[in-house]
Amino acid sequence: MTNLRDIPSVDRLLTALAAAVPHLPHALLRTLAREEVDRLREQMRQDDRPAVALLDHLIQRVVARLDSDLRPTLRPVINASGVIIQTNLGRAPLSRAALEAMQRVGAGYSNLEYDLDAGSRGSRTVHLEALLCRITGAEAALAVNNNAAAIYLVLSALAVGREVIISRGQAVEIGGGFRIPDVLRQSGAQLVEVGTTNRTYMRDYAAAISERTALLLRVHTSNFRVVGFTHETSLAELATLSHERGLPLVDDLGSGTLLPTDAYGLFPEPTVQESVAAGADLITFSGDKLLGGPQAGLIVGRRSLVEQLKQHPLARALRVDKTTIAGMEATLLSYLHGRAIQEIPVWRMIATPLDELHRRAEALVAQLGSTVSRVACVSTVGGGSLPGATLPSVGLVLHGGDAALSRRLRLGEPALVARFYDGQLVCDLRTVLPEQDADLVQVIQAAL
Ligand SMILES: *Cc1c(COP(=O)(O)O)cnc(C)c1O
Repeated sequence: MTNLRDIPSVDRLLTALAAAVPHLPHALLRTLAREEVDRLREQMRQDDRPAVALLDHLIQRVVARLDSDLRPTLRPVINASGVIIQTNLGRAPLSRAALEAMQRVGAGYSNLEYDLDAGSRGSRTVHLEALLCRITGAEAALAVNNNAAAIYLVLSALAVGREVIISRGQAVEIGGGFRIPDVLRQSGAQLVEVGTTNRTYMRDYAAAISERTALLLRVHTSNFRVVGFTHETSLAELATLSHERGLPLVDDLGSGTLLPTDAYGLFPEPTVQESVAAGADLITFSGDKLLGGPQAGLIVGRRSLVEQLKQHPLARALRVDKTTIAGMEATLLSYLHGRAIQEIPVWRMIATPLDELHRRAEALVAQLGSTVSRVACVSTVGGGSLPGATLPSVGLVLHGGDAALSRRLRLGEPALVARFYDGQLVCDLRTVLPEQDADLVQVIQAAL
């Protein structure tokens, strides 16, 4: 029965394919043709012969591969995990205003580096700088690719071959293998750790300062909490000390927030404005954590220092593109218009009242029937901010939900990422955008 010699040659298959899908690149068809011919040979060696003619079978297989292979691998996901800022799921969803700005600017040309008034070359840094200064009270600002890049630029520009003093409790790993001591080394600065893991005093910093010191660095320990017998030197104390000694104080805020988190029942996360007011000379933070914008690293602080950063060759390598600037500008404008809570998705999620989540859950249960029910659960902020802080939330329990159902949801269209909570499969509604509720119903129905 099985006769390997009946398998059409790659060339014969290619000729048939070139007639069936003539617009597709030949090199792509050749690769797929080779792979499918090999696969068929393997299959027939197992005495498994397709029911249809071999050439037709191969054409069908290649066409099916085109459907799956030529689809974007980056896809939208409904985040029902209850973690608002989930790095693996792309951190902050963008506001409508940010998306519209990115679309407007990205679809055509813009005055990215062009002074429309003078009709001559301009600077891409002006678009975000004034807004960041207005919001934070800083003198100057610069945006780069992400906060890791921001820290790298600051250390490269200010501390190469010199010492950076940091509390032992803050020489930490942020996540994804990003370790403060490694970044320091990579940038050519030398790390001087002072104090102990749980207690560091002003006198520890003072004793470590020498003519080799470039700056003092404070890192917000954003993804864990040290509790109990602890002491951290305050930012204001560090500012006093560093300024007495003529050194800059750099504050890596991590998430950074422009709004007070304690207004929503969360621990107070230090705001960027507080850092500026406390006297930090440069402050770095992420654009896509609690700020709620596109991926970026934002640096605000003293004009003379920010100018040094702008002049550094690395600034060119780390610069942000026009769509990021457009999205960030729109996001910052939401803050200045006092509409951040309504317009920026991460803040809308944080601020959503429990009764609104209950109402949505009820409507979803009505559509999905007795396979689901409403349950109280807790969300977290995530994204290296507010470690240990939780928000009360409402979810849907999928009855009998197991690992297999969880996988079917993940492979749904769109994908749905739920989580196990007390042994039950739960969709936390706080992190599902309200406009995704209809999709949520459809994906759950399909998976059940
Ligand atoms: C998240 C974080 C970083 C890295 O920021 P990215 O924007 O992810 O590059 C650095 N420092 C701290 C304290 C952080 O929390």
